[in-house]
Amino acid sequence: MAQDFPDTIIIIGAGVFGLSTALAVARHHPSTKVTVIDRHTPPVQDGTSVDTSKILRPDYVDKVYEKLADKAQALIKNDPELQPHYFERGFTFCTDGKDGEMNTLWEQMFDNIKVTQPAAKWNELKDPGTVYRHLHGEDSDSTPTSELAGPRMWMKGYTSKRCATVNAEGMIKVYYDRCCQQPSINFVLGTPVDRLLYGADSCVDGVVLEDGRALRAQTTVLATGAWSSRLVNLDHQMHANAVGIAYIKLSPEEYEKYKDIACHTNLVTGVNLFTPLGGYLKILRRTAGLRNTVTLKDPKDPSKTCQASYPLTKMDDPTQTLSAEMEQSIRDEMREILPQFANHPFAQTKFCWLEQTTNGEFLICPHPKHNNLHLATGGSLHGWKFLPLLGEFVVDSISGKLEDVLVRKWSWESKTDAKQNKFGFMTPGEPREFQQVIGHLSQL
Ligand SMILES: Cc1cc2nc3c(=O)[nH]c(=O)nc-3n(C[C@H](O)[C@H](O)[C@H](O)COP(=O)(O)OP(=O)(O)OC[C@H]3O[C@@H](n4cnc5c(N)ncnc54)[C@H](O)[C@@H]3O)c2cc1C
Repeated sequence: MAQDFPDTIIIIGAGVFGLSTALAVARHHPSTKVTVIDRHTPPVQDGTSVDTSKILRPDYVDKVYEKLADKAQALIKNDPELQPHYFERGFTFCTDGKDGEMNTLWEQMFDNIKVTQPAAKWNELKDPGTVYRHLHGEDSDSTPTSELAGPRMWMKGYTSKRCATVNAEGMIKVYYDRCCQQPSINFVLGTPVDRLLYGADSCVDGVVLEDGRALRAQTTVLATGAWSSRLVNLDHQMHANAVGIAYIKLSPEEYEKYKDIACHTNLVTGVNLFTPLGGYLKILRRTAGLRNTVTLKDPKDPSKTCQASYPLTKMDDPTQTLSAEMEQSIRDEMREILPQFANHPFAQTKFCWLEQTTNGEFLICPHPKHNNLHLATGGSLHGWKFLPLLGEFVVDSISGKLEDVLVRKWSWESKTDAKQNKFGFMTPGEPREFQQVIGHLSQL
């Protein structure tokens, strides 16, 4: 049912969810006063939304996400300020070809693109040699099996040419600058929100910052991503998870050779290599999840505590690095698919934290227990690509005008059944504790 739009809104969090929402409110309700609060100034360096690169990939089996991702990509591609950060180089999806959930997903995705896209938009890579030559050039030879640490995993694939890589930090900067130009948007940066401010009947009246300042608004939007469990009890709807990332500095010659390659991912192993940007090759490994379970102040009753997974980023702990085990597993796989870089030093490593809902669907909905609190989060390893649309969804949700199909997908209630997050290609299995896999640099 349509509802009156609030005169004042606080948005906590200036990542893709928060900035997109601020702009959409300014566009549709210019008289509404918007206050965006963040721990840091955007682009927030340890925020999930900020990195050298993200991928725009409409290749979903889910028809709703496929259509929305297609629409969002067209908006980004045709936006003159975002265009310089947009590189349409394609995305190659690979598999080991053995029976299993991720191989089934690969087959569904490939079947889908064959019927929805013209042949010019994709090409099949039928065997490991073709996958390798597609990446390294027609005259290249794949690594002999005897030199691999285990069985060959990049057995076949297909390239979806419509996918693109973007400079995420560059685009976030454009969005932040746009927000700053809006007379109705005000930023409060540098001091985290300590807690929500509750009024009568568990109604949220605003926020209290760490320095004690109280800010009030008719509606508060929680766009705090992986950090959300500090401010609301998530009742296990969503967990903070980490993904390990390594960067390799390429020589000018290497960069020239590889700068136009497609992103490549192996859905079974979780390794993802990106189209190089700014002279660096980025490689990450998705897993079933890495959680940093800690004791936090209970968001509703500060006299109590609760257990939740909470981010620990390189800004919190500059000594953190990938564990020897994780580094080895990435290098072992590089020996198959990127052998010439397998022994290159990692110029940088980090863990990127994400907010993973139980089923990979976003959380864009009113909070079921607290009036005037709206959730705009749950990106679950695939939310970035919807940048221009996220705010539209949040505004529609606040107004009670969100399409029924999206209300059902993104509601609090839909998060009760735990399922593998196939939208974000998380690999199957049980999450591990972050502290067991993190390494530390001994000297800084
Ligand atoms: C490794 C990795 C790769 C990914 N790759 C892709 C991809 O290729 N394509 C894609 O579509 N998606 C991708 N995703 C998913 C996508 O990046 C996320 O869905 C999206 O960025 C989440 O945005 P957000 O706004 O929720 O979170 P964030 O960007 O983290 O924003 C949350 C903000 O809230 C602020 N905040 C938190 N707590 C407080 C507080 N108490 N007070 C004040 N401020 C606070 C934080 O500082 C932060 O800036 C990837 C995710 C990861 C982790």
